[in-house]
Amino acid sequence: MDHTQTTTTSAAELTSKKPLLISGPCSAETEEQLLDTCNQLAQTGRVDMLRAGIWKPRTKPGGFEGIGTKGLPWLQKAREQTGLPVMVEVATPKHVEDSLAFEMDVLWIGARTTVNPFSVQAVADALRGTDVPVFIKNPINPDVELWAGAVERLAKAGVKQIGLIHRGFSSYGNTEYRNAPLWQLPIEMKRRMPELPLICDPSHICGRRDLLADVAQKAIDLDFDGLMLESHRDPDQAWSDAAQQVTPTNLVALLDHLIWRHETT
Ligand code: PEP
Ligand code: MN
Repeated sequence: MDHTQTTTTSAAELTSKKPLLISGPCSAETEEQLLDTCNQLAQTGRVDMLRAGIWKPRTKPGGFEGIGTKGLPWLQKAREQTGLPVMVEVATPKHVEDSLAFEMDVLWIGARTTVNPFSVQAVADALRGTDVPVFIKNPINPDVELWAGAVERLAKAGVKQIGLIHRGFSSYGNTEYRNAPLWQLPIEMKRRMPELPLICDPSHICGRRDLLADVAQKAIDLDFDGLMLESHRDPDQAWSDAAQQVTPTNLVALLDHLIWRHETT
């Protein structure tokens, strides 16, 4: 990110805030669930940006694949009610078009999209001529070049505000983490692209809430620029990623235990 550039939206400025704290449900489920969760988060005063997925790339068919475009007005309402910028995942040009039509403040590209250069290029082309900030999650496989390639595709399409999200890497069999952190990969990305904000998503690394604090602390100790943590008003009832989400109250408890190197949240 070019810190000398004058940004036009507060969301663009926020992507360079450190530490940047992003939270919200894995998925928008109902308008009520989204607004309740987001309002509770805003009331904590600890969150800079709200997230919710409305198009959910699921490993197998038959699960909840997201509420779709009808969730975009709910996210708009969440922003109106909380005053916080909102962020959504995009995987196709149509997602980009719809998200921008509903004035989403920030977009992110998910791990299952970053693996596919055709998809990344299509999203990059749809972003041409816009000024929305975009975070790029690492690909599900541990391939730094693929992650860097996605950054290059967006940069070449003229996307100025790019950030990185480390969410861990797939592996076979039962492992402690849902997605292995392999910290050397995000560290290598930071070495190559020191100007890009790098945030950690402990939720998708851990897959279970009891591990979140240790992974979040490790990211802070490695000088990451922020955290994305999934939260839900009733995590056990969540329609996706139930085991890794925390209530807004427990999010605050988690944040209170973290020791930030340079600033406090
Ligand atoms: C998500 O953020 O809810 C998500 C689907 O993440 P990932 O792309 O990291 O699996
Ligand atoms: Mn999730």
